[in-house]
Amino acid sequence: MALTWDLSKTPFHAWNKKEKDKAWGYVEGMIFFTMAIDMDLSHGEKDIDEFLWRARCYELAHGAYFTKPCKHKRKPVDQKPTCKGHTDPVTGVKAEGLYVKPALITRRHVEPFAGMSTNVARKSRAGFMNKVKKSLARDVATSLRREREEKVG
Ligand SMILES: [Zn+2]
Repeated sequence: MALTWDLSKTPFHAWNKKEKDKAWGYVEGMIFFTMAIDMDLSHGEKDIDEFLWRARCYELAHGAYFTKPCKHKRKPVDQKPTCKGHTDPVTGVKAEGLYVKPALITRRHVEPFAGMSTNVARKSRAGFMNKVKKSLARDVATSLRREREEKVG
């Protein structure tokens, strides 16, 4: 099923065209993120706290969903990278890979999308946590298998 969305009931809808165009990459990210956390913001302001809870859960389990470039200069691939990766010191959210920093999903980022609806099937907190649990279990299995293979090889 294709993802559909409606932003007509959001504060974002009232932004001018220039602001909307500039933010569109982020907006698309937010729309697709509703699939990752099994909820949209169709109940408006009431959904924000749960959305933020699941967003932080996602960020801690998988790494930052949004990232921004860091200030380290990229080196040619044959040289030692100047960047060692970045973790937000306050929240512990890590950015996957090098040369990027985590760009956290905060209340300020979510508020413009209060009222956004998508056709993602809404799950309860427990339903969402089940998905997180399964994903963590897969990561554990992969991690242990890699460790075994490393010792054999
Ligand atoms: Zn860096």
